[in-house]
Amino acid sequence: MQAPLQQLHSPLLDQHQVQVWVKREDLLHPAISGNKWRKLKYNLLEAKRQQKETLLTFGGAYSNHIAATAAAGAEFGFKTIGMIRGEEHLPLNPTLRFAREQGMELHYMTREQYRLKNEPETVLQLAQQFQQPYILPEGGTNALAVKGCTEIVSDISIDYDYICCASGTGGTLAGIIAGLAGEKQVLGFPALKGGAFLEEEIAQLIKDYNGQSYTNWQLVTDYHFGGYAKVKPELLTFMQEFREQHHIPLDPVYTGKLMYGLFDLIQQGYFPAGSRIVAVHTGGLQGNAGFSERLGINV
Ligand SMILES: *Cc1c(COP(=O)(O)O)cnc(C)c1O
Repeated sequence: MQAPLQQLHSPLLDQHQVQVWVKREDLLHPAISGNKWRKLKYNLLEAKRQQKETLLTFGGAYSNHIAATAAAGAEFGFKTIGMIRGEEHLPLNPTLRFAREQGMELHYMTREQYRLKNEPETVLQLAQQFQQPYILPEGGTNALAVKGCTEIVSDISIDYDYICCASGTGGTLAGIIAGLAGEKQVLGFPALKGGAFLEEEIAQLIKDYNGQSYTNWQLVTDYHFGGYAKVKPELLTFMQEFREQHHIPLDPVYTGKLMYGLFDLIQQGYFPAGSRIVAVHTGGLQGNAGFSERLGINV
């Protein structure tokens, strides 16, 4: 499986004398897309080592991680259970329909139950109810996921100065930072409001993974467009133009905001002339069908 580097070409990049490559993690696997594959890899090995038959995880109704876990289970021979936040809505949206088709068993948690999903009593109760499954946290983020995400950077064969990545739970960014071990500059673009809280989470994830702390990274918190899974017309227009110009589809939740933010920073002259920038396409395109359906637009 390969995630090639694709160089972008545009007058804006020439004008500011910067070079941008997109690390196409979205092409890693047809169904286990992008960073979700990186995050699952060592967890699947660990689940096998523990001789677990079932993976259980959590997510919202449009979750890329739910879709990826369902596909990974089908491919690598695990039963999968998805604990979905909120009520069941029928017909199922495209994400949950796909998860079902991959054999995932869906269960629904009220928002209150979902909030308590990591409490010891809940974990114990789920372990009993589903015969001791291998439990993956929401978004798949744990130390083994961080380990998998270090391979995003070991897989980059060109020289560069900056690496940019969208951020949800921060697991992927933590892996990139840990993988670089203090080299280069890392910019994270949170998909939700409240970047400051994420900063602590990421620092902790890195510490849990390798005991280190690094200073060569920062969060760019201005491009959440109102919050998680919120969009604005200018974001959708940007995504459409980006696709036409570079032939790379983006998603409105993560990679669209990342690329919008990156191009805005370039426009503002944030990057010195001569900078070489890698932007990680973390995938997530499975969510576009549900997004289009929900908003009645085409993304
Ligand atoms: C889940 C996801 C992210 C966020 O990854 P975290 O490790 O939770 O920060 C970014 N981009 C895409 C496309 C995703 O699906």
